[in-house]
Amino acid sequence: MDAKIGVLALQGNVSEHIDAFLLALERMGHGPSSEVFEVRSPVDLVDCQALAIPGGESTTISRLIDKNGLYEPIRSFNGGIFATCAGMVLMATTVEDPRVHPLGLIDMAVDRNAFGRQRESFEADLVIEGLQGNPFHAVFIRAPVVTSVGKDVRVLFRVEQGIVALEHGKHVAFSFHPELGNDTRLHERFLHKLGITGQRK
Ligand code: GLN
Repeated sequence: MDAKIGVLALQGNVSEHIDAFLLALERMGHGPSSEVFEVRSPVDLVDCQALAIPGGESTTISRLIDKNGLYEPIRSFNGGIFATCAGMVLMATTVEDPRVHPLGLIDMAVDRNAFGRQRESFEADLVIEGLQGNPFHAVFIRAPVVTSVGKDVRVLFRVEQGIVALEHGKHVAFSFHPELGNDTRLHERFLHKLGITGQRK
């Protein structure tokens, strides 16, 4: 099956997500008819099977989602969402910061910038539930953590401060940046779960 993957392109790490999904598709054996493209308005979402919501500044992305008329279209989007960092904040049902209008697509409460000033940015090797092979090298940049989840959320990794990787139905959310570096295992696993399998013979 050809893949059509959108990356929300309002602010943040957009090109990194496009490159990571292109690399994942290539490794899965997809050809040029599978596409990864920018989503800026509701029509761009129509053909997508999957949407990435990148890291960046959640307050800014939130404002631009509202301004571009994307709030309800993303809420009723039928495909899977791959949300990282600021994207994770936006997927929540509860965010303390009133400047964020969360999409409420994953039953969870999120704390922005949860690691504080001293640890604005750090890296760690995580043994993520269900991920084969070596630990995942995760880059955290002014990262959020999830402080509580509903019962249908599957926690994939947790640190002392809270949950940093989880899945909920078709959606996944990470407080770190799997789009940085070229380990595409989390992207590939997400696509497999959506039924976007490889085309390798
Ligand atoms: N701290 C940012 C926010 O809450 C997220 C940082 C990031 O996406 N790298 O918007």
